[in-house]
Amino acid sequence: MSDSAAVNTKPSTHEQVVIIGAGAAGLTAGIYTARANLAPLIIAGLQPGGQMTITTDVENYPGFAEVIQGPWLMTEMQGQAENVGARVMYDIVTALDSASRPFRLMLDSGNEITADAVILATGAQARWLGLDSEMQFNGRGVSACATCDGFFYKGRDVAVIGGGNTAVEEALYLANICNHVTLVHRRDSLRAEQIMQERLLKKANITVEWNRQVAEVLGDDSGVTGLRLAATNGGDDKVIAVHGMFVAIGHDPATAAFAGAVTLDDEGYIIAHPGSTHTSVNGIFAAGDCVDKIYRQAVTAAGMGCMAALDTERWLGEQQG
Ligand code: NAP
Repeated sequence: MSDSAAVNTKPSTHEQVVIIGAGAAGLTAGIYTARANLAPLIIAGLQPGGQMTITTDVENYPGFAEVIQGPWLMTEMQGQAENVGARVMYDIVTALDSASRPFRLMLDSGNEITADAVILATGAQARWLGLDSEMQFNGRGVSACATCDGFFYKGRDVAVIGGGNTAVEEALYLANICNHVTLVHRRDSLRAEQIMQERLLKKANITVEWNRQVAEVLGDDSGVTGLRLAATNGGDDKVIAVHGMFVAIGHDPATAAFAGAVTLDDEGYIIAHPGSTHTSVNGIFAAGDCVDKIYRQAVTAAGMGCMAALDTERWLGEQQG
């Protein structure tokens, strides 16, 4: 968080554009709407900077020849948004009234803001297993994103936890980088699509530990060294040697405050019109991981933030003219 951000914390009661969320999507929407003279207000919630603030090394965000740090990138992104005229305030949106015009946003502080247009960019959180040892080795062998961190395990042995499309996709991705991948699944059949399962089972350097769940992440000062796996069907524990554990048991979009305001799918993701960022309500747009359950990358979130800003600018122009 930059010092300048703390200065501008008093919102006017009416805003042209309010952006909810200050991750890659929200901040990019802020940069573009500010440069379009829309004077956006970005409301940064519980985790300003989004999921990138819990990542360490980043080497897949374009524009940087050397490895950068996730929190640093987000600080720069916020500084960039503020330097072109976006304001950032720290509060939590607890409800959005999408039936009124202008839209009404209720905040945790008790303040209320009205807005002509709203961009929802609240992101999502990876689900974790909830083990103390998982927390202890987070960022030192434990990750929730193979695309982000897989390369750091080149030629090593790793495990992926989960049985859905994400877990299978991550296992296949890692199998091309790592020496060996163990998929650990708590049941005896996968939830992933059939075609994905076939690809997984054909891959020579992937094995599946069926009916197993992680009881403990093992490690030392160097990071993760193995996993103790418990049997879900009553057998003995088993230890496997791995240097990385990728948890792929799903994500939760941060959209609870918008249920009833815009249409969500059955997993809570905001539904946007295909190829655009328009939601079910004219004038409310959505970008990033609160919409996207497939790509989930900082660069794709930033791209969608740009799209949302351009859609907002066009829509506001149409209202005026
Ligand atoms: P998901 O489909 O909900 O699968 C989560 C997996 O994690 C399940 O196999 C579940 O086991 C397991 N799991 C959940 N909690 C667990 C725990 N505490 N311990 C151990 N295992 C646990 O999640 P997802 O794979 O992230 O996919 C989310 C959505 O995105 C789905 O609709 C999926 O199809 C979609 N998606 C699509 C693509 C694609 O089309 N290319 C790629 C990725 C995701 P159980 O099976 O026993 O419940």
